[in-house]
Amino acid sequence: MKTAVIGSGIGGLATAIRLATRGHEVTVFEKNSRPGGKLSEIYADGFRFDTGPSLFTLPTLVEELFSICGEEMKDEVSAERLDINCRYFFPDGLVFDFHHDKEKLEEEVVQKTKEKPEALFKRLSKSKEVYEISAPVFVFTAFHKLSNFNTPPYKEMAFRLHKLNFFRTMHGANNGDFKDKRLVQLFDRYATYNGSNPYRAPATLNMIAHLENNIGAYFPRKGMYAIINSLYKLAVKQGVLFHFNTRVHKLLSEGKTVKGIRTLDSKHYFDLLVSAIDVKQITRNLLAGHPHRKRLEKAEPSSSALIFYWGINKTFPQLQLHNILFSARYKDEFRKLFRERTIIDDPTVYIFISSKIVKEDAPKGKENWFVMVNAPSDSGQDWEALVAETRRHIISKINRTLGIDIEKHIVTERIGSPVTIERDTGSVNGALYGTSSNSMFSAFLRHPNFLNKYKNLYFVGGSAHPGGGIPLCLASAKIVDEEIRIRYE
Ligand SMILES: Cc1cc2nc3c(=O)[nH]c(=O)nc-3n(C[C@H](O)[C@H](O)[C@H](O)COP(=O)(O)OP(=O)(O)OC[C@H]3O[C@@H](n4cnc5c(N)ncnc54)[C@H](O)[C@@H]3O)c2cc1C
Repeated sequence: MKTAVIGSGIGGLATAIRLATRGHEVTVFEKNSRPGGKLSEIYADGFRFDTGPSLFTLPTLVEELFSICGEEMKDEVSAERLDINCRYFFPDGLVFDFHHDKEKLEEEVVQKTKEKPEALFKRLSKSKEVYEISAPVFVFTAFHKLSNFNTPPYKEMAFRLHKLNFFRTMHGANNGDFKDKRLVQLFDRYATYNGSNPYRAPATLNMIAHLENNIGAYFPRKGMYAIINSLYKLAVKQGVLFHFNTRVHKLLSEGKTVKGIRTLDSKHYFDLLVSAIDVKQITRNLLAGHPHRKRLEKAEPSSSALIFYWGINKTFPQLQLHNILFSARYKDEFRKLFRERTIIDDPTVYIFISSKIVKEDAPKGKENWFVMVNAPSDSGQDWEALVAETRRHIISKINRTLGIDIEKHIVTERIGSPVTIERDTGSVNGALYGTSSNSMFSAFLRHPNFLNKYKNLYFVGGSAHPGGGIPLCLASAKIVDEEIRIRYE
């Protein structure tokens, strides 16, 4: 079959590879000059920065793409499991290392918190249980396909629905599990992994903690963009054809069939189309009469991010690869994000330093800091003012927490915001994960991987089912591949 994939983010690449190995003649249309989308990189003054994702979980899903092509995962992508998943700095001065090793983690809990280690291990095993019950249904199958409801994973889940905690919020569940409020905050943070608010998102999402803390947090030996580089090469090797600098402006439809696409200056016709771009682009501009348009417009968008890419002329042994400097007013932080649609003056600051592992990412004696805070998606805020103000707040928080004067060490700066994220990746209003998961119905409301109205049109990537983040985008590619196989082979 002649198949088009629109977008070459991780979801689009994975889909192209999978379908090419099944014998599809795959063409990818990408508006940028190179693949990757949110998973991208920039070079500046001798520093390299991964611009989007920094945490790599479930690397087996990438490995699987190599193995279906009969290849080994390339060395530069092979990922090391981290000993310390993240170093947390709390407003009261506690510095807590989340070790992968269970003995070290136990010691950390005993020495530094008011919690019994059993409470933390119980929490982790509950996250594992929720993941194991729900992932076969919510993550690895086309959830919106009625015939799936009769399959064993769905039946199994039906018997254990009470374990999934749909009716509690993440915060409510975490608050019940821990006496030490700092651990509540730590586990609440996982809501931000899909751009949501822990005070509203269902406790089912506590399964996210399982991926990072039980299975492990990984980092590719050559940095995150190496994943894209090697998947792109793998796709080319499978015969996938790429058209870069080619924006898709319209999907051409006739009755229940999508016939092809229109770019700036030409039309291309295909048997099958896979959208791997923000579904809101499709509903708003690319396909008139899309049945989910109204629902999608009403849904609350996920959060976005403000990111400062700083070249720093010094090294900081007190920091790890991943570091979180928590806000002292976490609930207010989310109220500001989702209700007032702004950024609090004491934001939680994430610092990711790839040069801790990839030495070539910064000149000797220097570090490449990726400094990120959660931001609302763009709804017309004065970003210039908000960026300047937030930059001041971030700097003062870093100085307070680490006892340094960071401003004088910043030798290079680039800035990412909801506006640049929309420009660079086509994600409407810069929302990182499409719609938020701020309600118990969110999994049901997420855009499905296919539509009944257009039989030959499929959807993958962070704004479709099962959601955003590298593992879920890879899962969406797997689902769509399987659905196409079932329908057409
Ligand atoms: C700052 C940031 C931090 C993140 N951190 C993490 C993390 O630590 N771990 C994690 O797992 N995930 C993280 N994520 C989320 C993760 O990056 C995304 O969920 C994932 O990369 C999305 O992939 P995708 O395939 O859906 O599409 P995208 O990466 O959004 O790619 C879409 C592609 O389509 C192209 N395109 C758009 N419109 C058109 C059009 N009309 N015609 C042609 N081409 C078009 C775009 O140029 C782009 O290349 C982060 C994201 C960001 C931005």
